Amino acid sequence: MNQRERIIRLFEERILPEDELARLITERDAETDELLYEKARIRQNEVFGKDIYLRGLIEFSNYCRNDCYYCGLRRSNTKADRYHLTKDEILGCAVQGRELGFRTIVLQSGEDLSYSDQDICDIVSSIKNRLPDTAVTLSIGEKTREQYQMYYDAGADRYLLRHESASPEHYAKLHPSDLTFENRKRCLYDLKDIGFQTGAGMMLESPYQTTDDIVKDLLFLAELKPEMIGIGPFISHHDTPFRDMPSGGADLTVFMIGVLRLMLPEALIPATTALGTIDPMGREKGILAGANVIMPNLSPRSVRGKYLLYDGKISTGEEGAESRAKLCERIERIGYHAADSRGDSPLMKQRR
Ligand code: SAH
Repeated sequence: MNQRERIIRLFEERILPEDELARLITERDAETDELLYEKARIRQNEVFGKDIYLRGLIEFSNYCRNDCYYCGLRRSNTKADRYHLTKDEILGCAVQGRELGFRTIVLQSGEDLSYSDQDICDIVSSIKNRLPDTAVTLSIGEKTREQYQMYYDAGADRYLLRHESASPEHYAKLHPSDLTFENRKRCLYDLKDIGFQTGAGMMLESPYQTTDDIVKDLLFLAELKPEMIGIGPFISHHDTPFRDMPSGGADLTVFMIGVLRLMLPEALIPATTALGTIDPMGREKGILAGANVIMPNLSPRSVRGKYLLYDGKISTGEEGAESRAKLCERIERIGYHAADSRGDSPLMKQRR
């Protein structure tokens, strides 16, 4: 099969044999990339029209019990300027977000154990009571099935937990030994089983990542069928063990967005902040390759610069949720528009 045939077959059948997936990644060239993006846009248009969904992201704490080698929030980074928001501050941001027009609020944090499960449930149910037409997404890491069930019962609609790498060996090169791909996978299947719209995903060009690792990621995603898929380039952080590792570029992420749009046409795929950080036009390139979600920052300005997963993370300017109008303009300029619906997965029946 040549690259053209691979793309057409992926478009028609949603999957390729494993060895062809590997070649698809290694045999990229500008001309066939264009074909991939064209096909991805066709699929995107069939499922979502020209709608782009906006999510207001509240990064409510940068405390973390974990020590992931790539992440600036890792517990061993004593230089991180730590903060966590109170329930009232979080609620205030959510209400402000709804006023700005967001109908999904994403609550993300490091794994901060100072919030009890009751606290998380309280925060979720308060937002749902105050803003009944708004979806709440949690992204607070690995928990037990019972904990996930509590959050779901409190009203959380969606959960983001990137799998980071579906190769256990590669996973072990990115994380200390108390974190395993096996448990990450258990979490994701629990989340799906409970009824969350579930998000997985990986970094691209993370240290030691091979083409075979990316193929494993694709096969894992094809098996899990997450409702949401977040991918972005690895970007090094100066106070982590990976400080000297080269950051990834936009190209591979944009390419993989196209591939994933063909493999999982109904998925909600964000053009991520990391993609927008590594390339000022990254967001646009992502959308034109099949992405259909953008997640502007809704955290209070005073803490916005402190959620530093990696160096150079954009957090002001059009990144800020209050610049919604400017962001909408950018989306219009490339022929799409910001939708005002909640943007649920087309695979999910709304449960309430
Ligand atoms: N504690 C939550 C949120 C983690 S931060 C959780 O475990 O899900 C969200 C995502 O940022 C991570 O899943 C990771 O894929 C990404 N990330 C972290 N450090 C990064 C880096 N140095 N470069 C690029 N992406 C990074």
